[in-house]
Formats: sequence, structure tokens, C-alpha cells
Amino acid sequence: MTYDKGELLDALKRYFGFDSFKGDQGAIIQNLLEGRDTFVLMPTGGGKSLCYQLPSLLMDGVAIVISPLIALMKNQVDFISNLSEHEGTAHFLNSSLNKTAIDQVKKDIREGRTKLLYVAPESLTKEDNVEFLKTVKISFYAIDEAHCISEWGHDFRPEYRRIRPIINEIGVAPVIALTATATDKVRTDIKKSLGIVDATEFKSSFNRPNLYYEVRPKTKDIDKDIVRFIKQHPGKSGIIYCLSRKKVEDLADVLCANDIKAAAYHAGLDSGTRSQTQDDFLMERIDVIVATIAFGMGIDKPDVRFVIHYDIPKSLEGYYQETGRAGRDGGEGICLAFYSYKDLQKLEKFMEGKPVAEQDIGRQLLQETAAYAETSVCRRKMLLHYFGEQYEKDNCGNCDNCLHPGKKIDAKNQLVIALKA
Ligand code: ADP
Ligand code: MG
Repeated sequence: MTYDKGELLDALKRYFGFDSFKGDQGAIIQNLLEGRDTFVLMPTGGGKSLCYQLPSLLMDGVAIVISPLIALMKNQVDFISNLSEHEGTAHFLNSSLNKTAIDQVKKDIREGRTKLLYVAPESLTKEDNVEFLKTVKISFYAIDEAHCISEWGHDFRPEYRRIRPIINEIGVAPVIALTATATDKVRTDIKKSLGIVDATEFKSSFNRPNLYYEVRPKTKDIDKDIVRFIKQHPGKSGIIYCLSRKKVEDLADVLCANDIKAAAYHAGLDSGTRSQTQDDFLMERIDVIVATIAFGMGIDKPDVRFVIHYDIPKSLEGYYQETGRAGRDGGEGICLAFYSYKDLQKLEKFMEGKPVAEQDIGRQLLQETAAYAETSVCRRKMLLHYFGEQYEKDNCGNCDNCLHPGKKIDAKNQLVIALKA
């Protein structure tokens, strides 16, 4: 099926109200409409969803979107269902639905009302869902957050490994894989596991010029540092990531005690509380979310003004994703990370009980983060280098090292690793 550029732009305007494609969206959609496997590497906020949403509305049959998070599915389904012209064109299938709801979804699909079906990987592997989907015409498969396939990504999910065999069982159709993770290892894993080694690849730059990167030494005064920082940015939305649930709760308490509108978010809270907190944040009833990495994937709040890492992240990959939630509207986004050598040792210790292969991966990822924290070169250059991208300038003018050269963190240097040339 081919559409010329004008027809695609018309559809974009009609369904989504946008006047132009962002980045490679047009070419990506064209490639998929022509029936080719497609691999999209685009940073967070780049506009990946539209790359499968729009073609699903244009093609015959149902597009299956595999996506890891229930919260994220619901956002997207609500969004599609709100597009005035196409009511009821999206559904999801996951463990949150009861039998009646599932039957209704299946009925809509059978009657051809559904163009997009979001499925959690664990629902896709269910026998009766597979049997049902075998009877349905599939337009294409979209694998969102495709890095979940790889142990080298920041969010490995073993069920993602089973996607290809299941596609073969349900019925082969073009595959579009999308991720904001662009390291070579992850990219290779995705292509192999999905069996799309010949896919057309679209890679956009991972540079986020509006994000400011800074690393500060973590001292016992970190809570005070954070309170001071937030007070300097009154009323601004921000996310603070901590590694442990306990720290999340403690820090949220500290902030609240300092008259900051803050709330805690982690996977140990019940789902009602979590979605309430998420709503409160989106509706700006609270300014600051203190969270574990359970928070954020797929949350589209365009004006998050800062992301703070209370603890050193487990990988640079994860760090990039989490900081990527700042400044999605192109406005200011301050990315502040606190770093201490002690934290690094603690994380290394945590790994000791794990299988050796996993430990090796974990250590390597951690060392890359440490190198980033301790570097005195441009942080943007280093982050982009990590994604295989050459940043031409030596001074980005928007990170601590470029703005205040010479202020290097004096951590133990036995773990300092030079930038791999
Ligand atoms: P990603 O999945 O790559 O992180 P999203 O699909 O969530 O990004 O899109 C990010 C934001 O960009 C959303 O608010 C979306 O509405 C917006 N967007 C996507 N495509 C366009 C476009 N062509 N024009 C304007 N805004 C767009
Ligand atoms: Mg997305």
C-alpha cells in the first residue's frame, strides 16, 4: 500500500491535528505501509507512538502493539479513543481485564471496529489469546520499548524473548520495533530476537540540546541540597529517582516537611495510590514525585523541568531514559545526579548473589555510569558517544563540565575509566 506525502499529511492532520511530521516519522510510516520490517531508534519524546498509531488507522486489519506497561497502555488507548473521528479504535488486552471486558474487546475486534490492540507480552503468550488472534487479520506488529528484549537494555523482560515465535504462530505480518535505546549491543539483540535483521533502520540523533546535565558529589547534606534546589525552582514539576523504596518514602517525607508539594511513587504502593499520584502530578496538584524507576515509562508530561538522581543509576542507558523525561516540550530541563563512590560499592555488593553472567553485565554497566559521573569532558559528548553518536563540538555550553571546567569530582580513581576511543 502506498500513500503519497500529501495523503499522509492529510491523515496526520485529520486524526491527530498535527501539521507536520516530527523527524523521520513520515519516512518510517511510509516504510511500514509498504510492508517492510522497520526499526526505529528515537529518543524519548521523539514521537515514536505515532509511527504505529497512524498506519494502524490506514491499514486493513488490527495492529498488535506489544508494550510492557499497563499504565502506559491505558494512556495510549484513552488518547486514541479520544481522537474525535475514530471512537473505539483502540483496545488493550492485559491482566487487568476481567472475562466480560475481554469478551467485549474480542467482539470489537471480530466486528472490525478495532484498529489497534495493545497487548502486554504476558497476555500475548496466553493460549486462548493466541488462538483468538490466529483468526484475526493482523496489519502489523509494533514492539514498543523493544529494548526490553535485551539484557543489555535497562529494563529486560524475559517474556519479550518469546515474541517472534508467537508472531509466527499467530500469523506473519510486518514488524516495527521501537526503542529509545540505541547502544549497539541492544540494537543487535533486538534485531536477532525479533528476526528482523534486514529491517530498514531509522535512527535519529539522541542529543537533547535543551537538557542541562550536572553531577554533584553526594554528601550527608544531600537532602538539604535537594530542598534548596527545589526552592530555587518553585512550582516547577520535577522527578527525583531513588534506588530503594524506603529512600523514596523518607525523602518524600522530608520534602513535604519542607512545604514542598511532593509524593512518593514505587511498585510497593497499591495501584490506586499510584494512579492517583500519577494524576496529581499530571494535573499539577503536586510538583515533585519521588520515585523508583517504576515511575515514568510512557508518562507524557511535557513540562517536567528537572530530574534528580539521588543515587547513581545502574546504567548510563537507564540514566539517559530517566533524564529524558525532562523538557519534552523543548523547554528547560535540568538533570542533576548525585554521586558517591560508596554508592557504587553498595551497588556492586548487591550484585554478588546473582548469576555470574548477570554480574558481569551489571558491573560493566555500572562502570560506564561511574566513568560518566567522574569525567571532566563534556557530559553530552560522553552520553552521545555511549549511543554511538559523534558529538562534533567540544563544548556543549549546557553541562557542568562545559560551563564550569575544572570542577572534577574527586572520587577514588581506581574505577575511572577513560572514554573508549
Ligand atoms: P516517544 O514514545 O518517542 O517517547 P511519544 O510518542 O510519546 O514519544 O510522543 C511525544 C510527544 O510528541 C507527544 O506529546 C506527541 O503528541 C508529540 N508528537 C508526536 N508526533 C508529533 C507531530 N508530528 N507533531 C507534533 N507533536 C507530535
Ligand atoms: Mg513511547
